[in-house]
Amino acid sequence: MSRNFTESRLIIASHNQGKCREIAAYLAPYAIEILSASDLNLPEPDETGTSYQANAIIKAQAAAQAAGLPALADDSGFEIFSLDSKPGIYSARLAGADKNFTRASEMLHNDLIASKSTDFSCRFVCALALCWADGFCITAEGHIDGTFIWPPRGKKGFGYDPVFQPEGCDKTFAECTPAWKHANSHRAKAFAKLIAQCFNDTPRVTRQNANR
Ligand code: IMP
Repeated sequence: MSRNFTESRLIIASHNQGKCREIAAYLAPYAIEILSASDLNLPEPDETGTSYQANAIIKAQAAAQAAGLPALADDSGFEIFSLDSKPGIYSARLAGADKNFTRASEMLHNDLIASKSTDFSCRFVCALALCWADGFCITAEGHIDGTFIWPPRGKKGFGYDPVFQPEGCDKTFAECTPAWKHANSHRAKAFAKLIAQCFNDTPRVTRQNANR
């Protein structure tokens, strides 16, 4: 079952500014007021799910119920195939409370060296959940394949971007322009599916109100 998004406000259920920025850019064509979980001081629920989709639903439902507004959550992760898809749903936790992704990436590199595997293939996965305050949710998932790069390269983006080189590309995510990442990432693919399901009837920004 599907549902069209026709409301005028939407919460992005994340406290990660890099993620909020990327998500807001996908919704920019629509006449929706975007609020973040940080703007509303919403608590961060424990991500107790065993899949990206389950965690995205936990985050979106918690925000939607706390604020009485629809909420969109992304749960995403980085998977290295020869490390049994680690860190996967634990990608954020591997970086620790201080969110040190340079250290987390180095730990993954050390694990790859210790595994003696020559297979550095990996991917990013994104699950989106759009939940309404009445509990109804729609989900969509996307991924992008690539190679783990060491040493890290590039200063743009966030998280594991400096150690990920997408297939068919000679730059890491952190060296790509935000426009390229916006069009090609795991999040782009998940958004294309979600938008096709729910945003066909959503009012769009007109030239008149775009400048307000
Ligand atoms: P969560 O979805 O907030 O639980 O965290 C997912 C983690 O995966 C983030 O903290 C990032 O480190 C990583 N991640 C997800 N998407 C991206 C991306 O586009 N670039 C870099 N890292 C990402």
